[in-house]
Amino acid sequence: MDIARFPRIPLGHFPTPLEPMQNLSRVLGGPRLWIKRDDCTGLSTGGNKTRKLEFLMAEALALKADVVITQGATQSNHARQTAAAAARLGMRCHILLEDRTGSTDPSYTDNGNVLLDHMHGAVVERRPGGSNMQAEMEVVAAKLVDAGQRPYVIPGGGSNPLGAIGYVNAALELVNQSAERGLRIDHLVHATGSAGTQAGLVVGLHALNSPIRLLGIGVRAPREKQETMVHDLGRRTWDFLGLRHDLPREVVVANCDYVGGGYGVPTPGMVEAVTLLARTEGLLLDPVYSGKGMAGLIDLVRKGHFKKDENVVFLHTGGSVALFGYPGTFGPVPEPAS
Ligand SMILES: *Cc1c(COP(=O)(O)O)cnc(C)c1O
Repeated sequence: MDIARFPRIPLGHFPTPLEPMQNLSRVLGGPRLWIKRDDCTGLSTGGNKTRKLEFLMAEALALKADVVITQGATQSNHARQTAAAAARLGMRCHILLEDRTGSTDPSYTDNGNVLLDHMHGAVVERRPGGSNMQAEMEVVAAKLVDAGQRPYVIPGGGSNPLGAIGYVNAALELVNQSAERGLRIDHLVHATGSAGTQAGLVVGLHALNSPIRLLGIGVRAPREKQETMVHDLGRRTWDFLGLRHDLPREVVVANCDYVGGGYGVPTPGMVEAVTLLARTEGLLLDPVYSGKGMAGLIDLVRKGHFKKDENVVFLHTGGSVALFGYPGTFGPVPEPAS
């Protein structure tokens, strides 16, 4: 596997730390829980999209684009990191935000990630929930071309084979960290949405023949659909890298029991997980992704899904900026369960 042949622009701090969560492990009574800090990638408060953007923005530069277009939900972490990357590289950024939750709370519509999109100088347009966002981006791209600009369109979440390579790389990084410390990692758990993170990880782990079991906790789609999305993008990433044989279907595992009322809609488990991590570990999760991912991990621990002596790594994909879009959800905060 030769990732080095793909041009990459440095945008983040790598490798990200791998740290023990001793307090949370104690509160839950095992297994040994660890956290891989992709919330610390550095770019505009960090997050998982930075790894993808290092490859995507390199292609945009190679194609001499002068404006990047992307899309996401109102509190999109991907849009915010793309806006920051464009600012760093001297490109314009045009963002389309889809109203997936219907929330009219001004904190949700204008604070958090939206505040930072503007801070980075992006042009922000809104679209109603259920819009065909890819088609909307093509319309904007055509207009910009007519105006003499050179747009580069990045899909939602940066989830195409080129972006997913960022997470193939993350799998190599994690396997190296585990080897350096003599740490046997049994499970890797993270929130999965537009599928690029899990697709990249599953390709990297499978190509390395790693025994680490990967579990994506869904935040939007039902299980069958999510797993199909991840497998489809994983196979395309596998082929894109020129790997031999095929990516088996059974290595893609998602659990979509923690979505609750829908994408971006708070659940009691998410509120508990965010509050518990803030109070036991001093860590900030986010309400849309890592909070639900951690809610799933905590519930699975309580159900005895993991052995007490296993090492379970939670990949923190970032997003805590979105907490400022959900102030009412967390205040006043309940006492954490123990
Ligand atoms: C985008 C995002 C995810 C999901 O990653 P995908 O590659 O879209 O599946 C998880 N957590 C956070 C904080 C995100 O912003």
